[in-house]
Formats: sequence, C-alpha cells, structure tokens
Amino acid sequence: TSIDRYAVVGYPIQHSWSPFIHGLFAKQTGQAMSYTRLAVTPENFERDVGAFFASGGKGLNITVPHKQSANIVTRYRTPRAEIARAVNTLVWRNDGLLGDNTDGAGLVIDLTRNLGFDIAGARILLLGAGGAARGVMGPLLAAAPECIEIANRTKQRAVELAEEFELLGTVRGCTFEDVSDGVFDLVLNATSASLQDDIPPIPRTAIGPATLCYDMAYGKGDTAFTRWSKTVGAGRAETGWGMLVEQAAEAFLLWRGMKPDTKPVLEAIKAQA
Ligand code: NDP
Repeated sequence: TSIDRYAVVGYPIQHSWSPFIHGLFAKQTGQAMSYTRLAVTPENFERDVGAFFASGGKGLNITVPHKQSANIVTRYRTPRAEIARAVNTLVWRNDGLLGDNTDGAGLVIDLTRNLGFDIAGARILLLGAGGAARGVMGPLLAAAPECIEIANRTKQRAVELAEEFELLGTVRGCTFEDVSDGVFDLVLNATSASLQDDIPPIPRTAIGPATLCYDMAYGKGDTAFTRWSKTVGAGRAETGWGMLVEQAAEAFLLWRGMKPDTKPVLEAIKAQA
C-alpha cells in the first residue's frame, strides 16, 4: 500500500511551514501521509496541479501567488471559497477538483477559540485590501461584528472590497489617513507591510488598552506591526501563527475527515521559528 500524498504549491515555497504543521498533524492522528513543497511558477500552475492529481496525489494547499488560479481550475467550490473567490485547499472529489478556502475560518478560530476574542458586536479595523483581506471578510462578517472598516494604501481597492461585502454587514472602505475616530476592538493587519519591516500609517488613537492588534504576518517574535502596537498602548498584540495553524487544521479535516489538536502544534512552531 502506498501512502497518501499531499503538498503545498507556491512560488517561492522553500520557507513554507506547512510541511512542518501537517507532519505534526499526521503524527498526532496516526495518519499515513506524506506532505511536500512544490515550487510552481504561474505559467506552469495548471499543468503541474493536473499532473499531481493524475499521478494519484490526494490534496494540495495553495499559497502565494496561486490562490486565484486555483479557483479557476476547480469544478466545485465550497460556499466560503465562492465568497472569497480564492482557493487555498484542493481535493479530488469523484470526477473533479473541489476548492475550499480555509484562511478566514482559520483566523476566526484563532481569534475566538485560542485568543478568547468575541467578534460579535466588535468594531473591526482591517488594514489592507489584497488576497488575505478578501479571504477573511466572509467569515468575519458571519460572526456579526458591529462594523468592519477596511483601510488601504490604494483607496480604490478598499472601497471596492467594501462594496462587494456591504450586503453582509456594515462595511466601509477608506485610506489609512481617514480611518474613523474612536478606538477599535480589533485591528487586523492584512497588509504585507511587515514583510518590509514597515507599518501602515494609521492614527494611534484607533488603538486603546482594550484593543487586540493582530498581524496576519508571522516570523520570529514580534512583527513591525505588533511591536508598534504595543508601544502605542494596545492591550494585546498577536502574530499570524495561530491563523496559519488553524487554516491548516481545517484543510486536514477536509482531506482526512478528522480535526487535529492545534495547541501543541502552535507551541512547537513558535518554539522552532
Ligand atoms: P497581497 O499582495 O494580495 O496584498 C498586499 C496588501 O498589502 C495590499 O493591500 C497592499 O496595498 C498592502 N501593502 C503592501 N505593502 C504595503 C506597505 N508598505 N504599506 C502599506 N500597505 C502595504 O498580499 P496578501 O493579501 O496575500 O498577504 C498579506 C499578508 O497576509 C502577508 O504578510 C501574508 O504573509 C499574510 N497572510 C497570512 C496568512 C496566515 O495564515 N497567517 C494567510 C494569508 C496571508 P495596495 O493595495 O495599496 O498595494
């Protein structure tokens, strides 16, 4: 009997933590499976994904820059992938590829279950209007916040994203400079600014002692954003490791029909990073 094969597809991909995470999930649940990294350029995406499944591969995770392309190669999509218009998990079902998007659920599970944050009624400031921001809008709005204000460097993208989701809740798009007055309960950084050690220039009055500041980016210790949040008096600041591990657990559930215990994996990854 051959073991079931899984992989994460991206470009670049050598720094992905997904093999580490799924390796620990497999060990913990006693699943016989392999999980590798596949470096695939955009022009080869469709061909290489097709070859992976044609050769008996069971499932893929999809990361930058392929989440929109992955949406296009699917025959079926889960409602949350449909709403995000992006796919981060692929699995073969009967006669075609099923696409799911577990990023938003991963964030919501990390916020609520791991961090004890109550999204219902919260005033949320979402920084960024790219793929990561789009992916979390549906699951966040489903948890009934008071409002989500989307602030982005390029105002037009924030306004368009807000318009797309306005039927699902109170949503507004703006620039970093014209963020509404008052303190937010949650400030979510979904920009890639931290990767350049940069911070979105939002007013510090948006953050107070009861604010949770959350950076979707992750690395060793603090990011530029979590470090800055603490200096301006945020009650709490967290990086995106929990979201990463929880989105992986949701993918594992889709593939293997069981949900791993994420707590020891999150501890292991923070100790190794
Ligand atoms: P995109 O390239 O799709 O979007 C990037 C966003 O960041 C845009 O809104 C862009 O603004 C903004 N931006 C880029 N540089 C700066 C800067 N210097 N100052 C202010 N804004 C800036 O990226 P993604 O949405 O895919 O990823 C965003 C972040 O989320 C990354 O750090 C990524 O690692 C993280 N992420 C984490 C996940 C997790 O599981 N923890 C999952 C997915 C993503 P503009 O529109 O003006 O260009």
